[in-house]
This record gives sequence, structure tokens and C-alpha cells, in this order.
Amino acid sequence: MKNSRKPFAPFIPICLVALATSALLMSCSSIDVGSGLSQRAMKIAEESLIVDTHIDVPYRVYRNPEVDVTQATEGGDFDLPRARKGHLNGAFMSIYIPAGVDQEGRAGDLANELIDLVEGIVARAPSDFAIATCSQDLIHQKRQGLVSLPMGMENGGPIGDDLASVKHFRERGIRYVTLTHGRSNKISDSSYDTNQRWKGLSPYGKELVPELNSQGIMIDISHLSDKAAWQVLELSTTPVIASHSSLRHFIPGFHRNMTDEMVKALADNGGVIQINFGSGFILEESRIWSSQRSAAEAWFRREQGNNMDPEALQAFRKQWRTENPYPFADTDDVLDHIDRVVELAGIDYVGIGSDYDGVGDTLPDGLKDASTFPNLIQGLLDRGYSKTDIRKILGDNLMRVWRANEAFAESSGYPTLCTSDLSRAEA
Ligand SMILES: [Zn+2]
Repeated sequence: MKNSRKPFAPFIPICLVALATSALLMSCSSIDVGSGLSQRAMKIAEESLIVDTHIDVPYRVYRNPEVDVTQATEGGDFDLPRARKGHLNGAFMSIYIPAGVDQEGRAGDLANELIDLVEGIVARAPSDFAIATCSQDLIHQKRQGLVSLPMGMENGGPIGDDLASVKHFRERGIRYVTLTHGRSNKISDSSYDTNQRWKGLSPYGKELVPELNSQGIMIDISHLSDKAAWQVLELSTTPVIASHSSLRHFIPGFHRNMTDEMVKALADNGGVIQINFGSGFILEESRIWSSQRSAAEAWFRREQGNNMDPEALQAFRKQWRTENPYPFADTDDVLDHIDRVVELAGIDYVGIGSDYDGVGDTLPDGLKDASTFPNLIQGLLDRGYSKTDIRKILGDNLMRVWRANEAFAESSGYPTLCTSDLSRAEA
């Protein structure tokens, strides 16, 4: 949860510095000199609809009730001032249910509590935040100067094994469901779980896919095992999303990320992969560092035996991190993932799912928090992306997928439920 927040640190757009030694090799667009961004980047940030499909604010606030994201906050990656500075328009609030809570049978209660919590944030700052329950809400609320907070459910556990609960959570505003999280649940196997209980989706999971389609709730294949993701792609009538995943190509063997073949199939389905910014999703060195740290900690625990002092463990962790600095990714590494999706599948199938407030102190240099989207835009401009293409990445692709899901639901007898009066007037 904890993240060392840096002040807004824009990048120079053009390389002005010659780097002499190979030890200092880094790409030109990631040199942090604290200077301004190009006017073009700022204009694109202001005019575009920026939609991030995965921000873990609700669980952060649930764990730390004193945190008020309607004000500037210490730590964390998202709050109102930073969202404003980053020109973020749609921040999907993750209604995250840990696998353990699901196994204890408390998933539904926690989901309702987290949704209440998001509504509480909006109630405290109604002239800044608004819940969004349809794609059109994002358009209207941007015009009204509001930051939209749509909601996605991370872990289908709250749906339990009862299809009727889909309607309940639809009415409460959930607009995507990540079918599982860290472990296999009643719906699907998880990429992180070696126990592939269902060999993909459970029989109930296979029934749930068409139900979510009919009710206009996007299906999220992030966190799913490969088999489950492939089954969703086969079964879903509507385009699906990967709300916060990156590419396995850059971290071979890391099953939480998508393979090239899956990205191509996702594009064939009309869906979109929303790139996760966490260094552990972007850079192999960061993933290796985490494995080495776990191994070192396991060794320390073994050495200490049954009488381990928790303070000694803390001290060991701190020392280990000092001796082994974390290899942070940077903006260019994230851009490499975007470039590769474009190469594999085309510009219409990639977006952003930062995982802010969900990946701790692992965020890349240049994209440390919700204020830094202009840096990403500058990086895309430096790589030759057009304004239209940048807008697709920032939100237009996701909006296309969302609209397609809404249209299918309409044809299945589930009218689009909007929050904004303006959206409702149009419906
Ligand atoms: Zn996640």
C-alpha cells in the first residue's frame, strides 16, 4: 500500500543530454529534469478522455479509514488533486475482494461495503467526483468538470454461485467483473494459483459469462489462468477487457501477463488490454528482484525458527532492500508494452490500467501516481503517435468496448443505467 510519492515530475520531450557511459544508459525521454511538458502534450491531456480501468482506492481507504482522497493525501497514488493534475476523467474504482475474504464467505458483504465507501467519497465532494454507471456518464461528467468514478469488481467472489446476484451488483453500479483474483474461486482458476481446480472456468463460470454479457457488465480476464482466459474469449458474445495486465513477452513465465497469442485473440474479440504500470508487470529485473527478496526472507524465517521476532524480520527486510535497491521500470518500459500491443494487434486494442494504489512502491519512474498521465502522453508523442492514436490509448478504445457491452445488454432487455441526468435524458 505504501508508496513513496514524488512531486509531479515532468520529462523533457527531446533528448538534450548526451550520456557518455554505458552504465548511465537510459532513454532520452525518461530523463527527469523537473521541466515542463510540451504544450501539445498538455493540450491532449486536457482534451482527451483519460480512463484508467484499475485504481485500488477503495481497499486503501477501507484499510486506512482516515485517508480522505477528496483532499491531498500522504502516500498512496491517487487523490483528487493528483487526479486533477493528471487530467484523469474516469478512474475505475476497484471493488477488490481478497481471496481469503471470499473463502470465509464474506465477499458479498465486503463488496457492498466498498461500494458504499466509493459513494461516500462522492458524497463528500459532489462538485468534484461523480459515480459513473454508463459510458456516456464519462462524457457528460467531463464536460461538467467532474472526475468520474465508475466501478469494477476485482474477484467475482461476491457473485457467489447465484446468478441473481449479478443483477444486484449491476444495480449497485458494477460495470466490469474480474472473474477471480489470487486463487481459484467458484468461477475460475487464477494465474497465481498452482491448483488449477477447474482447468479453466468452472461449470458455473461458463454460465456466468453469458449472464454478464446480457446485463452489460464487461468481463475482465486479468488474473485468470490461461485456460480460463481462452475459454472466456471463446464464450463471450461481447468484447472483453484485461483491466490491468501487461505483456508476458517482456517477463517470460509470468502468467499474470498476457501472451502475444492472447493479445491477438483479444483483438479478434474486439476487446482491449489495459496496460498495468507496476514495475513487476513491466520489467523482468523487477520480477526477479521480488523472487530474490522472497527467497531471502524465506531463508531468514528458517534461520530464526519458531522464535522469530517480528521486529527482526522488519529490520532484515529493510536492510535487504537497502543492499538490493529495487529496479524500477520507467515510462519508456511502459511504452514498450504499448508499442508491442500495437505491433501485434493494432492501435485499437490497448489502453491503461495503472493499478495505482494496488502495487505499492513499485511504480515506474515518470508514472508514479495519478498526476503523471501527461508524461505518458509526452512519451507517446516522442514515439510518433498521432493525437487520434493517443486518445484511443487514453480512453477511446475502452469506451468502444464499454459501448459494445451496453448495446448488447440493451438488445437483451437490460437498458443502460446512467447516473448523470444528461446521460439519462439521452437514453
Ligand atoms: Zn489485480
